[in-house]
Amino acid sequence: MLCFYHPLCEAHDPGSDHSENMRRLGAIHKLLRSQDWPFLKLIEMPVGRREMIELVHTKEYVDFVFKSVPASGYKEIEINEVISDHDDGEVTVLSPQSGAALMRCVGGVVAAVDSVMSNVDTKAFCATRPPGHHALANKAMGFCVFNHAAIAARYAQKTYGIDKIAIVDFDVHHANGTQKIFEKDSGVFHASIHQLPLWPETGYAHETGCGNLLNVPIAPNTSRDEWLCAWREKILSRVDSEKPKLIIVSAGFDAHKGEPKSRQNLETKDFYTITRDLVALANKHSGGRVISILEGGYNIQLAAESCMEHLRGLGEKY
Ligand SMILES: [Zn+2]
Repeated sequence: MLCFYHPLCEAHDPGSDHSENMRRLGAIHKLLRSQDWPFLKLIEMPVGRREMIELVHTKEYVDFVFKSVPASGYKEIEINEVISDHDDGEVTVLSPQSGAALMRCVGGVVAAVDSVMSNVDTKAFCATRPPGHHALANKAMGFCVFNHAAIAARYAQKTYGIDKIAIVDFDVHHANGTQKIFEKDSGVFHASIHQLPLWPETGYAHETGCGNLLNVPIAPNTSRDEWLCAWREKILSRVDSEKPKLIIVSAGFDAHKGEPKSRQNLETKDFYTITRDLVALANKHSGGRVISILEGGYNIQLAAESCMEHLRGLGEKY
């Protein structure tokens, strides 16, 4: 299993009191360094190219992002709209290293697609930061600037002609950006399991796109067993029937019971189980190919430990 990472992704700095702070990825990097990972190969993310970003995002928006990167301090590029009393209205911020971090994220996910499609390995994880699944084609949202999962999917379509990709998102927040980007693209099936009500207050079951979207909203304070039951009976069964030729995972760890931004009850070990579920489907349909991309998770230690369970689930052989 390949693990794409880069120190610059840790250097994107919205401020130490921001939920999406540098310590999130720092904790993941620390566990990666401190544990023995016989099945994991660490690879530095290469620098991406602008045309990769423009597979998903408008030229004007890409210009706006790179022109907004400040020489010092912070630059707010979006304030999360407070839609309900579940929302905290935190800002999406760029700092001096953000442009370089974003270029590594883009280069990393594209390199992951190339590696998996050329059978260097069938599994790859990308330790991207900032997260990406809320980003729209022309707008930052929810700490997300570029939509890395969408870039990976578009690149895989364009470069390798894959006609059925599944993006599976288990972050506790609905992947509104990924949904919007693909809602008219029958070549991408997008499945999201998330809490509602919760920001961004989208992702209801009736949102089905062109038949290519599956939204599984979960009520606050749902038990762990009920969450896992919905995962199996709705998400896994549908992904199975879609027979994807590549599975891309938007891996957020904020449905954990210790997460400050949500009210779910998953435990650290559950991220191993649900990853094994996806690997089993990949073995059945997609030659074992899975590319996982880091999204949210704001209890820094628990998210990092959950991420390690996810990596173990991806990397261990049957
Ligand atoms: Zn999230």
